[in-house]
Amino acid sequence: MSTEAPPLRANGYRDSWCGQVLPEKVGAELRVAGWVNRRRDHGGLIFIDLRDRTGIVQLVFNPDSSGESFELAHKLRAEDVLSASGKVVRRSEETVNRELATGEVELLVTGAELLAGSETPPFQIEGFSSEVGEDTRLRYRYLDLRREQMREALQLRHRVVAAMREFLDGEGFVDVETPVLTRSTPEGARDFLVPSRQQQGSFYALPQSPQLFKQLLMVSGFERYYQVARCFRDEATRADRQAEFTQLDVEMSFVDGDDVIAVNERLLAHVFERAGGPRIETPMQRMCFDEAMGRFGTDRPDLRFGLELVDLGDALRATEFKVFRSVLDGGGAIRGINAGRRELPRSELDGLISRAQELGAKGLVWAFREGEGWRSPTAKFLSEGELADLNRRLGAEEGDLLLLVADQPAVVNAVLGQMRLDLAERFDLIDPEENRLVWIVDWPLMEWNEGEKRWDALHHPFTAPAGEFDPAQPGAARAQAYDVVWNGQELGGGSIRIHDARTQEAVFAALGIDAETARARFGFLLEALQYGAPPHGGIAYGVDRIVQRLYGAETIRDVIAFPKTASGFDLLTGAPAPVDELQLKELGIGIHKPKLAGH
Ligand code: ASP
Repeated sequence: MSTEAPPLRANGYRDSWCGQVLPEKVGAELRVAGWVNRRRDHGGLIFIDLRDRTGIVQLVFNPDSSGESFELAHKLRAEDVLSASGKVVRRSEETVNRELATGEVELLVTGAELLAGSETPPFQIEGFSSEVGEDTRLRYRYLDLRREQMREALQLRHRVVAAMREFLDGEGFVDVETPVLTRSTPEGARDFLVPSRQQQGSFYALPQSPQLFKQLLMVSGFERYYQVARCFRDEATRADRQAEFTQLDVEMSFVDGDDVIAVNERLLAHVFERAGGPRIETPMQRMCFDEAMGRFGTDRPDLRFGLELVDLGDALRATEFKVFRSVLDGGGAIRGINAGRRELPRSELDGLISRAQELGAKGLVWAFREGEGWRSPTAKFLSEGELADLNRRLGAEEGDLLLLVADQPAVVNAVLGQMRLDLAERFDLIDPEENRLVWIVDWPLMEWNEGEKRWDALHHPFTAPAGEFDPAQPGAARAQAYDVVWNGQELGGGSIRIHDARTQEAVFAALGIDAETARARFGFLLEALQYGAPPHGGIAYGVDRIVQRLYGAETIRDVIAFPKTASGFDLLTGAPAPVDELQLKELGIGIHKPKLAGH
């Protein structure tokens, strides 16, 4: 990726970008400024690679022509900041550096000024080693961001966000900022709280998303809103997540789901094109939630390879094999994957069993099709007819590896859905050139939370049901919701919203949010819905994740300028940190059991 050089106004520091010292400038007198990337002493000459954000240029200091600057060049060290002027000359053929855009020329320095010295950095910028630990990089992030890789990641991020704004602006969407100090918002995670000094004992919550505000903006008649919004969710730490993240948040009025999907397909196509991502064919594929769960075990299926899940309950309806029998009698499911013709040693098959257990299954049945039956420790428990039927349903040919899980449907899906991904990696089934985008549509509105014995919203409580909502059958209600998935990763999701207070109250009730709680938490929304709320809907995208995927970064932290560690520490500033007694006193807060901050 090349770095474009922005316009530059000449001043005392420079009149050219380093990356613009190109062969067409030979003969010109130029002044450049930047950081010392590298210094080499060579038979009386000193070579400095000078770096700015556009690239690197080679400076040559010569005892005869560089005057006093030659002394300075002797003392320069990596990361010193320098301004230097001189004449652009062509390099001799043997010294041309084809890796650099400026590699055919060099600047013969006639004058130079040290603008700032640098301590020896804790790690090298030039010649960065991947052995530098991430903690060190985060602790000295301002140095880490000097690396080309990081600069490119953030420049790509900028291009993605600029393309989003450009597209939405062109479509008449209005960028409106919403509060960061607010009340609890409804995305189902834990809130970050900010104590109020003026109202001791009261707290603001940081928004988990601008959901309610964007709905209010629709009630206000904005019709098309967007915002690049910071969201905060105090969730249990998960490896590649940030508690503070960025969403592209969008909302529209007088629309149905197809309208929202249509404009968003064009938005994604525009952003991918501007960011050098894959070409997006529109209209994009759509798949019902049930189909995604049934065939792939997940609501974010990776469609770049097969290994689909197959339901085997019917083949085993009358089975006498105890393990299967008790699962089926207990309302469970038996599903399997045909992993294709594979030869795996016993140790690897045992590994698959442990993996299935680690993912939550009690066990895993493996088998290879052999003749009409199976080579498998489980074969002896199944009848010939059952084996033949299983082979048929799984499309098994001689030698194919079959993997079966029997458990509650959610467990079976979670385990086989993940094993499907593991197997694709193990057997190298994914073509890196392929890209599959799909809308997952027709979601259930609610799912039963067995632990808490209540219904939970699958998206959030403001999602509109498809058709009339029947409070007697919350589990049967479908949602006007849609998620967009790219190669197995959710990029964004949204829905048409409830726009009448009566339905909203009925949905709250079904979710176990009683009228009083609803009024206390979301009273302002219920009230607004009584003053002429247009039908509306929208979507939100995870910006960090989109950039990570477009850049091919390994972690989300690599596309965020100042991220926190996986456990929520900001190693650069030292946040979170204890505060003064006085500050606590002003807030009326006493700390119960101070915990020692540890990383
Ligand atoms: N507010 C939702 C979220 O953050 C997105 C939406 O429904 O627009 O996931």
